[in-house]
This record gives sequence, C-alpha cells and structure tokens, in this order.
Amino acid sequence: MSFNIAIDGPAGAGKSTVAKMAAEKLGFVYVDTGAMYRTIALYMLDSHIDVDDGKALVDALGKIEIGIRYEDGVQRMLLNGADVSGRIRTKEVSAQASVTAVKPQVRAKLLDLQRNLAKKEDVIMDGRDIGTRILPDAGLKIFLTASSAERARRRFDELREKGEKCDYEEIRKEIEERDYRDMHREEAPLKQADDAVFLDTSDISAEEAADRIVSLAKERMER
Ligand code: C5P
Repeated sequence: MSFNIAIDGPAGAGKSTVAKMAAEKLGFVYVDTGAMYRTIALYMLDSHIDVDDGKALVDALGKIEIGIRYEDGVQRMLLNGADVSGRIRTKEVSAQASVTAVKPQVRAKLLDLQRNLAKKEDVIMDGRDIGTRILPDAGLKIFLTASSAERARRRFDELREKGEKCDYEEIRKEIEERDYRDMHREEAPLKQADDAVFLDTSDISAEEAADRIVSLAKERMER
C-alpha cells in the first residue's frame, strides 16, 4: 500500500516549494492539485464560460480532459492534449481558479483523479482539502501556513525577480481575498484536519520546513 502525505494551507504559504523539496528527499511523487483547478479555470476563461450558469458549467466540464505528465519529476498539466503549465500561472487564472473551485461539479470531477494518483504511488499532494476530504487516511497530514504579510512579501519578491510590475498592498489584498473565498465556501473549505500537524513557515526556510516533514514521514513509516 502507498504512503501518502497531505499538505494543505492558504495561497502563498510555500506549499509547492516545500512539498517538492520533501518529495525529492523521500523519493515520492509530488502532486499539485491547485494546478488542476487552474487548468479548469483556464478553459472557462478561454471559452468565456459563466461558471454561475449551471448548465454552461456542466457542458464545459464534459468537454475538458485533464492530463498530467511528469517530466524529470516536474508535473506538467495538459488541457485537452495541450500543455498549459505556463499559461495557468497568471493572476487572472489564480483568481478564476478560486471562483471555479467553489463549484461542487468541479470538485467532483477532480476527486477520482486525485485519489487514483495517491492509490498508485507514494505521493505528497498539496491543496486545500487533501487531508480533510481527498485523502482522509493519509499517513501524514500537514497544515502549512504563514502570515498574510509574509506570504504577500514572498509573492512580491518573486514577481519583482521576474521583472514584473507589482504593488505590495495589491498583492496582499488579493491573497486575503483568495483566503477568504477558500475558507468560507460551502464545498470543501480550507481548514486544518483534526489530525494534521500545524507548521508555520513565517520564520523558517522552505528547506527547514521540508526537513521537518521528511523526519515526521520517516517516523510514521517506521511505525
Ligand atoms: O494552490 P493554488 O494557488 O495553485 O490553487 C489555486 C486555487 O485552486 C486556490 O485558490 C483554491 O481556490 C483552489 N484549490 C482548491 N482545492 C485544492 C487546490 C486548489 O480549491 N485542493
């Protein structure tokens, strides 16, 4: 049977960086579920679908085929056969993903895909509802977070490094809006699972957080 690690937490807490590092150290497959919501959101944007129109949403979901491919351990997302890994990282897609993700039809479409990946291999899967809903029996659950000020600062530095124009207050506001939507939605809201380990990364490095996860995982696997 596979050993799975669930990592949940708000946007910008460093989940993907930390999960990738820990996956590499443990030899696990890293699964980024946010990328799957982003892929669906991109389709809705490209096709001008009003996701509040139930019929249009269901029709659109029927036309979407999501594929996942691993290239040197890096997860690539395919939308109806086309690689959209770069296109899903824009600000517009981030915002649309958290709006689309409140729809139960969207979550239902991704549930089996996520569970099947975890059945086949040892995975570290990150998202919002992995420990609470997708993998309730995961061998280790982590709730990874950081203050919104720190998360906004990291995002700001990241964008500036890429040479993109950005405003710190605007980024912080966007992060807080996304947190609010993710935590207050009816369907699978972001919350810490009762049996999750709380890990605040405001004052520790990604490497330190990954090492903590690796040692917790090793302890549990030996049990
Ligand atoms: O993690 P990431 O920022 O890429 O996720 C994009 C959006 O997808 C989140 O804001 C959240 O609304 C949604 N999401 C979700 N459940 C997950 C992963 C992501 O609702 N398991």
